[in-house]
Amino acid sequence: MRWILVAALVLASCGAPEPPATDDTESAAVAAQATIEWGLVMHGGAGTITRENMTAEQEAEYRSKLTEALTAGHAVLEADGSALDAVVAAINILEDSPLFNAGKGAVFTADGTYSLDASIMDGATLRAGAVAGVATVRNPITLARRVMEESRHVFLSGEGAEAFAREQGLELVEPEYFYTERRWQQLQAAQAEEVLGTVGVVALDRSGNLAAGTSTGGMTNKRWGRIGDSPVIGAGTYAGEGCGVSGTGWGEYFIRNVVAYDICARVRYQAVTLAEAADAVIMERLEAQEPETGGVIALDGGGHVVATFNTPGMYRGWIGADGEAVTAIYR
Ligand code: ASP
Repeated sequence: MRWILVAALVLASCGAPEPPATDDTESAAVAAQATIEWGLVMHGGAGTITRENMTAEQEAEYRSKLTEALTAGHAVLEADGSALDAVVAAINILEDSPLFNAGKGAVFTADGTYSLDASIMDGATLRAGAVAGVATVRNPITLARRVMEESRHVFLSGEGAEAFAREQGLELVEPEYFYTERRWQQLQAAQAEEVLGTVGVVALDRSGNLAAGTSTGGMTNKRWGRIGDSPVIGAGTYAGEGCGVSGTGWGEYFIRNVVAYDICARVRYQAVTLAEAADAVIMERLEAQEPETGGVIALDGGGHVVATFNTPGMYRGWIGADGEAVTAIYR
């Protein structure tokens, strides 16, 4: 696996072209590298996603939803919208899809309830907003943005977050809205570690500003009000000083290792590229603690796209100024 990553870095430094949109033969490493003038990079969760356990129809569905979300974010940026607007527009589409473990497709807690988390950060100002443990908000990423822009706080949880959502006039739904048969079956099987499908986006707008956001239902079968890394600024989401990261995977490890911030800090304090920093954190540091921990997507001010993961697969994609969406799933 390592050699593939090294090969990718070499390819990237030679200015290798972006891989084609149909990437059945792609390796993760080649897919992990591209340079864009402006645009966005996205993940739809990392985990045991292999060709063997995916039908052609399922794969096409995932790719088409990723492409739809990438295209929506691109349209915002093309019209001179902000990176923040693009992040929210793209994540809203993934949240409204039952395919991903965010919004509509959120997984169940051990009690058979829902507890959704999200966060967003504006790289230009270091402002951030996050919510944890909400069960009635259709689009948690939108609420996270409201926390950032309409409150004096950064992080709201549970009933308080929902009261704020109500005050803000956001769309509230009955818990049944989040019901999907697939997630119910997964809870019955209690395959906590198998169920990863969090979504995240990092966008770079035409003014050179970066923003990052992450939204999730958390981990299947979670208990006691457990909160993962996704709403924790610095762990699951970070944007600042020309670096943006969104993570997905086993949240406890992402929190302990402050993954998103660590990647950006390495770029800032060490003479390393974003790809090198992401590989060091995900492929070496996390992997040494726990194999198959997850992955990140990241983007820097120079438009370098990174998607690094130590799991068999990670739903991912990016789109540059040319509007050509690239999607990939497997390693
Ligand atoms: N990181 C998320 C959490 O631990 C789960 C995921 O990425 O799918 O809550």
